[in-house]
Amino acid sequence: MMPRRPVLRGRLFLLILLVMCSLTAVTSVKAASPSFELAELDWEYQWGDLPFTDSKPDLSAVATQWQPIAFPANPPNRGDQHHVWFKTILPELELSEPVIFITSIDLNVEVYLDDQLIYDFGELNQESKKSFKGWPWHQIALPENFADKPLYFRIYSSYKDIGFWGEARLMERSDMLLHVISSGLHELIVAAFSLLVAFVTLVFALFRGTKKEFFYLGLFSLATAGVLVGENLAIQLVFPWPLLKTYLAAVSYFSMPIFIAMLLYYWLNGASGSRLLKFVAQFHLAYLALAVLLSLSGVINLAIFFPIFDALFVISLLIMMQVVLRISGQVNLSQQLVLGAFAVYAIFLLADMLVAHGFLPWVNFPVVIGGLVFALVLVVISLYSYVQTNLAVDQLNQQLEHRVMERTAELHAYADAEQQRRKELERENHFIAGLEKLNGELQACQYLNEARELMLQRLGDVFKPTQVQISFDDNARNAQPDEQILIHELEGGSHVLASLTLKDSDEAQATLQQEDFIHRTCRRLGVTLGNIKLREDLQRYSFEDSLTGLHNRRFFDDALMRDIQLAKRNQSPLSLLICDIDHFKRFNDEFGHDAGDAALQAVADTLQHYFRGSDIPCRYGGEEFVVLMRDASLDDAIAKAERLREAVQALDISYRDEKLSHLTISIGISSLTNIDSDDAETLLRQADQALYAAKQGGRNQVKSADENITKEKQA
Ligand code: GH3
Ligand code: MG
Ligand code: MG
Repeated sequence: MMPRRPVLRGRLFLLILLVMCSLTAVTSVKAASPSFELAELDWEYQWGDLPFTDSKPDLSAVATQWQPIAFPANPPNRGDQHHVWFKTILPELELSEPVIFITSIDLNVEVYLDDQLIYDFGELNQESKKSFKGWPWHQIALPENFADKPLYFRIYSSYKDIGFWGEARLMERSDMLLHVISSGLHELIVAAFSLLVAFVTLVFALFRGTKKEFFYLGLFSLATAGVLVGENLAIQLVFPWPLLKTYLAAVSYFSMPIFIAMLLYYWLNGASGSRLLKFVAQFHLAYLALAVLLSLSGVINLAIFFPIFDALFVISLLIMMQVVLRISGQVNLSQQLVLGAFAVYAIFLLADMLVAHGFLPWVNFPVVIGGLVFALVLVVISLYSYVQTNLAVDQLNQQLEHRVMERTAELHAYADAEQQRRKELERENHFIAGLEKLNGELQACQYLNEARELMLQRLGDVFKPTQVQISFDDNARNAQPDEQILIHELEGGSHVLASLTLKDSDEAQATLQQEDFIHRTCRRLGVTLGNIKLREDLQRYSFEDSLTGLHNRRFFDDALMRDIQLAKRNQSPLSLLICDIDHFKRFNDEFGHDAGDAALQAVADTLQHYFRGSDIPCRYGGEEFVVLMRDASLDDAIAKAERLREAVQALDISYRDEKLSHLTISIGISSLTNIDSDDAETLLRQADQALYAAKQGGRNQVKSADENITKEKQA
């Protein structure tokens, strides 16, 4: 579309230039031969029709009633007369093909030279057909010997005017033709131009449905062209239907105010005065319809509608002018141009009306200039609007592109957000599944240490791809509360077991989701780990002696059974020591029960540290301790027991910073290798018997079952 614009503009300017050149060329043509103004002759008139004999008027019969008149039009005292006769004597003029040219006659006419009918327009003799036949120009051919002969015009008119109108001239036929062509051709060119502009404007209006003003302007331009064609002189040379031409002129002329009023109505857009304009348009439309219908049906002559229309048009113009003056401050440049063109046109039309109705002397008034001005203005504003439209379309395109880009960006952002959301969901699902799995595995853990190991191994999977650091002890205690795994103690209160922090991520970068995961993990695992801790504590309490911290008798019973089984399966030795503090009742009595407890703890500590990890020292009850020595033969056990006895004897026992007396222990030993029975009871009994022997032997000594057995055997 874009590159075509200058081409179109160029063509239109070329056309305008062509019109201008044609106008100047045609109007410069001048008549070459002599001619004679009929107005200069002496004229007489006679109201009413003359009698006829043998289709010839009886001219002599009423000779005395002829009255002088300056020009054969509208004689005085018409009354209700429809017929008039005009008479003149033709002058002498050297013409090879003489004709009388008359611009117009109201309405029907017969022309007689002497009593010979030489021209007839309107079939005057047929009374029934004496109707309006249009307003053509008349070309009345004369014989060569016309000089000094009387010329009669028999005229019929039911119109307000009767007689000649415009120019009346005796001239050479060729000159007349040239005159008609020259005075009509420039109008035709303007008409063609207006028609083209109307066409272009209407097409433009069609494509730009929103701009109704171009529709009315196009129609107005069409009407202008119609008037110019309808009133054109030259066109009669090729178009021999004058009434049709007059109808064209009437329809075009009568419709002009409709389009002006509608245009103004459109511009006013509901403002005050628009109803009046609509009424003006409707009124003129009704008038047009009435004129066409009544004249076509033969009720009223079309001619009558012209002067009435002129009066109405003047009133409408005044009404519209008043509205235009009111809105003149708000109109834009192209509207100003249109209004200016209307004004110019209106002035030309008004002047033409004044001439037509005899208020001004007859001149060949150039109404065509009004039409041309209007057409040119229309071209200018159409081009302007076209350019504006293109600019607006460009702008709209840009805006659209911008909107599309914005929308695309929004969609991308939305898609990104959706993807992000999907990823977060996936991560969440992965997290929840991982956390639940880990939690399930943790629930199966017996001890916290086991749980810790599992967490160290598996927590990374739960948070993948986020990297998480797990810390215990001091680091954990210094972490944010939301990042701590808190577990509750059996004794009440709670402590921080571990903390989870994002690896290599400062707080600003951590997403809410990651923080949420950590928080949820801490709470979830806190409960599970707390349960493990509780279970561990409970278990510990049930197998631990609360005073000494050694395993208790319940634990020992289980351990003894299990270790006997193991030793037998592995063919490995197993020894049992039973240690009893000597005269402990006395000790208690001497230092008090609390001091006795402290002594028990001191002995227990010695036991705890003295044996290797695989040995199991337990408090058997009261002041008795047992030690299960795995993989220890009786001899090893005896040696170990001997060293223990010495260590206890050497033990400094103090209570409340007071040194107490030393203690001694007696130890009885039995060993699995030395007994046939695999019964734990037997092993215990033998050790107990050995202890009893040690007590009997004077205390502070080690006795083995072996010796006892030997003794039993000896006994
Ligand atoms: P022997 O040398 O024959 O073993 O004499 P003994 O006094 O140690 O033996 P006995 O069985 O007559 O007394 C054991 C005493 O151990 C009785 C009791 O007061 C004391 N005893 C038992 N359990 C505890 C304890 O938990 N704390 C304290 N302080 N004393 C205890
Ligand atoms: Mg005892
Ligand atoms: Mg004792």
